[in-house]
Amino acid sequence: MNIVASHARGKVAVDKIFGAGAKAQQAVNLVGREKVINGAQGVLLDENEKLICLPTVEKVLRNLSTVDLISYAPIKGLPEYLNDVIDITFDEYKPEAYIESIATAGGAGALHHTIWNYSEIGDTILTSDWFWSPYRVLCQEALRKLDVFALFDADLKFNLEDFKNKTLSLLKKQDNLLVILNTPAHNPTGYSLSGDDWDAVLAVCKDYAKNKDKKITLLIDAAYLDYTGDPEGKKFFEKFANLPPNILVILAVSMSKSYTLYGQRTGAMIGISSDKEAMQEFVNVNEYTSRATWSNVNRGAMKTLATIYRDKSLLYDVQRERNDFLKIIQERARLFIAEAEQVKLGTLPYIAGFFMTIPTAKPDEICDQLNKDNIFLVPLDKGVRIAVCAIPSNKIPGLAAAVNKAILAMDK
Ligand code: PLP
Repeated sequence: MNIVASHARGKVAVDKIFGAGAKAQQAVNLVGREKVINGAQGVLLDENEKLICLPTVEKVLRNLSTVDLISYAPIKGLPEYLNDVIDITFDEYKPEAYIESIATAGGAGALHHTIWNYSEIGDTILTSDWFWSPYRVLCQEALRKLDVFALFDADLKFNLEDFKNKTLSLLKKQDNLLVILNTPAHNPTGYSLSGDDWDAVLAVCKDYAKNKDKKITLLIDAAYLDYTGDPEGKKFFEKFANLPPNILVILAVSMSKSYTLYGQRTGAMIGISSDKEAMQEFVNVNEYTSRATWSNVNRGAMKTLATIYRDKSLLYDVQRERNDFLKIIQERARLFIAEAEQVKLGTLPYIAGFFMTIPTAKPDEICDQLNKDNIFLVPLDKGVRIAVCAIPSNKIPGLAAAVNKAILAMDK
């Protein structure tokens, strides 16, 4: 007998990311931390494998008044946060458009609201074949389907052709199309769409949007926006100026990675449109959905961002501290890629961010094999994800060779 309602039957959250993390912890308990490589977690760990909190963020958060820490916040979000999260996200690259923001429970909250409010029940949502696995859960929970286009072509370049074909075939079947693009510093590959990729994607969308019955929402999951290390990493935002009114862009931003406040569950959705009314509607419907989902989000975290943004020396310190850690991640990635090249282990194009991916047909078997050597990585549908954000530099040497050995053993 099922006691749950029919739409809830059979739901079981199997999370391979947390699963691999739990196995790694068991190994640590058994053989000690030094002997274990835990490349499963998507959080920043320092070179001693300690969870990092950016020191200035911690200082600001801990110095908040009790009232700011415990009070409710407005459902939309604190007014200063709503303003500052827009400015801090765009820097000097704010597009010419109407722009509004709504506070959300992390980036995941922004994904949730966008799926709910910008696709029809039963619609298919499009993302790339390499994707953060909760996308599927978020879509299914909202009674939507998820389809994918191939992110890379045979030359490991952005696969515009497949993007175009999948977009067109879905728009033939449905009037609303929601496309989720996780860039820059994509999880799990570390790829970032280039300026040219963006021009091509927007040209495709503008072409299909000539049919005014069709509405395209581009949801840019920018959870890793602050970890590109590229001074022009936000320049693509300018391209969202003067889009046709039936193309809406929503940015999902998060304080989880940018401010190392993962558990404080604070982010925002930022709407960008050439249509003023679409932006008023954006505020109305998403505020309503917040009320119906979690009510309001963490006031202390929102206040922390506003306090940092309004004091240029605090802002400078946060950016400096984040960049110091970013350099550590970049160095770990550089080490891994150099060794991967030596042993001829193929990686997907890594540009920046917390993760890189080794494509393979037998991800589960390879991860199981690596577990025997106390190496814990995350099996994906078509590859193995390595969290360079969490593996200290001294554990990187030999890792590419170990993965390669496991792959070769499977191929035998
Ligand atoms: N999007 C991607 C690609 C992520 O990797 C994550 C977190 O791991 C998120 C969104 C959302 O994170 P949060 O809800 O903690 O902001």
